Amino acid sequence: MKSFSTNIKKEKPYKCILCNSSNEYFTTIEHIVPHSLGNNFLTLDKGWVCDKCNNICSGFESRALNNSSLSFQKVLMGHKTKKGKQPKATYNHIEWFSEKTKKNSISIDLNKKKLNKNPFIKYFVENNTKAFIQLAHNKFDIDISKLLLKIGIEMTCSLSLNNSDNIDNAKKFILNNENESWPFLLIQDKGFQMKSLFGPSKFIHSHALASNFDIFIYENQTDELIFFFSYGYFLYAINLYSKNLNWLEELKNDNFKFVAFPIEFSKFSNT
Ligand SMILES: [Zn+2]
Repeated sequence: MKSFSTNIKKEKPYKCILCNSSNEYFTTIEHIVPHSLGNNFLTLDKGWVCDKCNNICSGFESRALNNSSLSFQKVLMGHKTKKGKQPKATYNHIEWFSEKTKKNSISIDLNKKKLNKNPFIKYFVENNTKAFIQLAHNKFDIDISKLLLKIGIEMTCSLSLNNSDNIDNAKKFILNNENESWPFLLIQDKGFQMKSLFGPSKFIHSHALASNFDIFIYENQTDELIFFFSYGYFLYAINLYSKNLNWLEELKNDNFKFVAFPIEFSKFSNT
């Protein structure tokens, strides 16, 4: 296994790492991990992602951050929004929000009508916190795929960790508004041994951990680049190079338990 270190480049290429264009406007600083997940330090300066791509990304980013398993974790972690408001989310047709005074807790809008319709929330009420393992597939899974790929591409490009030809498919997938999907995993067991990408920089690593996230990159036996994003109690994984799933065998052999998303890939889960 190849390990990598952080040394984000300081230069401003004025060539977009997503669409490769130099002819667009570059007026925004790019948060590699979204700001509303608690990241206020891991950024790319103006000149890395063009305004046009930034705009496309903000569409799937806000859907993923407000309606998915990631949004649920965001609320649980309690990171405030840019405007200083408490986080909230809609996941599995339920409104989730956090309260100022309670850390690491989550509240739900217990609307009776919704309660009766939703098996997930019944499970929650009957079995307490175990419901958090009951992760449902939903239509926003595609937005998580895109967000994970975006973070992975920005992270690896800024560190020169990828072979740029190999991430062309992922870039196209992010930027084109197609309805096909790209598989990712939610790994249930976090007891794995991998070196944090931030490991060599104690300062950045401590900031990341304080913001409840961490990043790991792993090159598998067939030279695919696998990107791991840990956020709150969840660990996501996605192949940055292709939709190929041969890397799952390696995870299975190492006794990883995981659920594959979106739903058409659920048969590849190892639970
Ligand atoms: Zn661009």
